[in-house]
Amino acid sequence: MPNHLFDLIRSCAPADGAPFIRKRDGRVITYGEAFALSAQMANVMVSEGVVPGDRLAAQVEKSPDALILHLACLRAGAVYVPLNPAYTPAEIQYFLADAEPKVFVQSKLSMAGLHPATQAARVRAREESLAAQTRRHWVAASGAAMEKVGIIALDKVLDEAANAPADFNDVQRGPDDLAAVLYTSGTTGKSKGAMLTHANLASNAIALRDAWHWTRDDVLIHALPIFHTHGLFVGTNVTLVAGASMIFLPKFDADEIFRALPQATAMMGVPTFYTRLLADKRLTREATKHMRLFVSGSAPLLAETHREWRARTGHAILERYGMTETSMITSNPYDGERVPGSVGLPLPGVSVRIANVKDGIGMIEVKGPNGFAGYWRQPEKTAQDFHDGWFVTGDLGRIDARGYVFIVGRGKDLIISGGFNVYPKEIEDEIDALPGVVESAVIGLPHADFGEGVTVVVVPRKDAGLSEGAIVAALRSRFANYKIPKRVVFVDELPRNAMGKVQKDVLRERYKDLYQSRHGRA
Ligand code: AMP
Repeated sequence: MPNHLFDLIRSCAPADGAPFIRKRDGRVITYGEAFALSAQMANVMVSEGVVPGDRLAAQVEKSPDALILHLACLRAGAVYVPLNPAYTPAEIQYFLADAEPKVFVQSKLSMAGLHPATQAARVRAREESLAAQTRRHWVAASGAAMEKVGIIALDKVLDEAANAPADFNDVQRGPDDLAAVLYTSGTTGKSKGAMLTHANLASNAIALRDAWHWTRDDVLIHALPIFHTHGLFVGTNVTLVAGASMIFLPKFDADEIFRALPQATAMMGVPTFYTRLLADKRLTREATKHMRLFVSGSAPLLAETHREWRARTGHAILERYGMTETSMITSNPYDGERVPGSVGLPLPGVSVRIANVKDGIGMIEVKGPNGFAGYWRQPEKTAQDFHDGWFVTGDLGRIDARGYVFIVGRGKDLIISGGFNVYPKEIEDEIDALPGVVESAVIGLPHADFGEGVTVVVVPRKDAGLSEGAIVAALRSRFANYKIPKRVVFVDELPRNAMGKVQKDVLRERYKDLYQSRHGRA
């Protein structure tokens, strides 16, 4: 039966014997094998009682099987809900209660999300039989609204799949049916589930494949997590709709990347991938000569990193911008100029506008086939985040005369000091360019006089001998007084989340009393 996204994937696939996933041990999973396993897993889902529209939550370590589980969900009409393997049982409780999945797949069965009485029963069961570890448990997790959730180990799914038929009559799914619910990283309040449709994901995969000239000959170095839009949809779906293949690494590891480079043509990474590789002497023109494309996204790439990468390898990193809710929005051009510090131009079919402009900067809003169907079971929150049909990204930015988009930071990171708007990125760029600075984060902290005090958190190079006074002095000639930091704090590293984003909320919390303390200059 017609299944919007999976039909597209199948129609773009090369011959059954063509490679899809290249494992570290040199073994290959072909397209034919991946499709057969996804059919077997889809059959297991149906036998578990999964019907179209049911959610299937997965907290699984990165592996080819975990990725193929996602394809199985598409085929069975289940809505895939990937969860970060690092989430604790208490966090998992929230996601299970919110998503109400029919089935919850874990790498290894754990107590995550289980009601205490069930946990006790599980402990007894485990004592009785070690095999209980992989056996299915139908349990009621806590939360009044919670139905029964089937918890099943991925190994058990695979065991059952091995005996299931390798063909499956794909469940009918139209463009507007949900393919996945991805929870946002949620730095403020509880994280929200972004509902992504078959059409959202299909349109973005095609737009990126074409924009980045992807072909069947491409071999992607895939070192990103697969619970996030970057690794799950950008990396995987682009590979699939190009009929290409990927070298599948469990996580970023410089040794593994250098081993993979001579076999690969492209890599997608977060900015930290690039800064870490730049710190490695093995990064040379020779080491990257087989590559045609390096893509960066999910967090801002420093213009300096872009320039250093180009000087060392001859490649201009292609920076793109997107988010869980919208998939990819803009991209630097493949053929045209890749502007350091810019996230490029809107992708074909995607419209970007800047709203509430002040001093040329305003809120980035987006509209297009990539735009999600709203937040799972949160119609009020969804309504708040749309403005005349445009999605309000929460990112502040500007568009230059050539149409290139520049992000100046998250709206919630905007600093208002003495009534003036201070855009952190502008100050960070200047500080990062100072000799002896590795990177910086500019934040606003509660300040009795100014409302918020502009504060810089700096990572200095070792033995740079940087002082607070020297940094402030260097900025004085460049900026109006209200932008000059009131304090500079030195740290060994900035806190980052799994996608390499600097966690400014963590810094704000850590230093919230800076201007109240004896040493503050409030
Ligand atoms: P997520 O939903 O986790 O993908 O996070 C989306 C957010 O990441 C966006 O709203 C931006 O704030 C940020 N982001 C993604 N790509 C970029 C980029 N190339 N430059 C700056 N920020 C980015």
